[in-house]
Amino acid sequence: MATLLDGRKLSATIQEELTEEVKKLKVASGKTPHLAAILVGNDGASETYVASKVKRCEEVGIQSTLIRLEENITEQTLLYKIEELNANPAIDGFIVQLPLPTHISEQRVIEKIDYRKDVDGFHPINIGRMAKNLPAYIPATPFGILQMLERYKIPTSGKHCVVIGRSNIVGSPMSILMARNTSVGNCTVTLCHSRTQNLSDYTKKADIIIIALGKPAFLTADMVKEEAVVIDVGITRVPDSSKKSGYALKGDVKFEEVAEKASYITPVPGGVGLMTVTSLLYNTLLAAKKEIYK
Ligand code: NAP
Repeated sequence: MATLLDGRKLSATIQEELTEEVKKLKVASGKTPHLAAILVGNDGASETYVASKVKRCEEVGIQSTLIRLEENITEQTLLYKIEELNANPAIDGFIVQLPLPTHISEQRVIEKIDYRKDVDGFHPINIGRMAKNLPAYIPATPFGILQMLERYKIPTSGKHCVVIGRSNIVGSPMSILMARNTSVGNCTVTLCHSRTQNLSDYTKKADIIIIALGKPAFLTADMVKEEAVVIDVGITRVPDSSKKSGYALKGDVKFEEVAEKASYITPVPGGVGLMTVTSLLYNTLLAAKKEIYK
């Protein structure tokens, strides 16, 4: 039976460390890190994510400002708002919660953010610097996964890592990070997506599987080799009348059967999701300390 990679426990530990770091910064320089978040519209999942980011900021002593904009706001107005945050010296870092309404170009929005304040790590400058192994903000979900692998001391060097899903926010950066010549890294990486043929030929040979698809219970035990490390990024809301919210959160892995075979596995919920917010807080602290960009 696999060991659980416990995102709840680990994120609590890192959060305590961050709280101490924030206190130290305040004593040393009188500065309180300040994160702003822009939320466009009222998408239920986005509301939940942003609320959790704001709450977790408060818990570690980071100041947060939530900026709510109407669903029908023009792209130009959003870009002006971003320019204001870029120019505001009181804001160390900020995020624009994705997805955006379809009439707004996510790419133009991301590129408008000053890369020095881009604590989500989505700006092409941060992605490029990350790929070159230069100091950069690393996107929060992949960063959280790296932290998990590091803190659980899971060997990665020389291992075969299969990443399933090639989104700009998870799969693609994850594949780059796992291949880098860094302490968590040095993997031989295969990046799979919807055009991959015979997916299980790859997953069956993988020492580490990182799956970010959004298809509940997609990865089954017959697709996984004994003792593999399985990281489940997927979060899908599935109707569930037994829950107060009316839905349950499901991962991309058929947990019960894969856990029988894997050496380590992340649960959903209680795995990668919590680490993601922790990484955003970490990036905000780096921004306040001007550790990446002076
Ligand atoms: P996404 O943009 O939804 O894209 C899904 C990816 O899966 C695409 O690259 C797609 O391939 C690939 N795919 C779809 N069907 C496939 C199949 N049958 N075989 C192989 N690949 C297939 O990805 P995302 O934004 O990374 O989100 C993925 C999941 O992670 C979602 O459930 C999301 O809610 C969750 N998520 C969780 C966190 C967290 O903090 N835990 C953070 C972000 C996202 P193509 O590129 O060919 O279309």
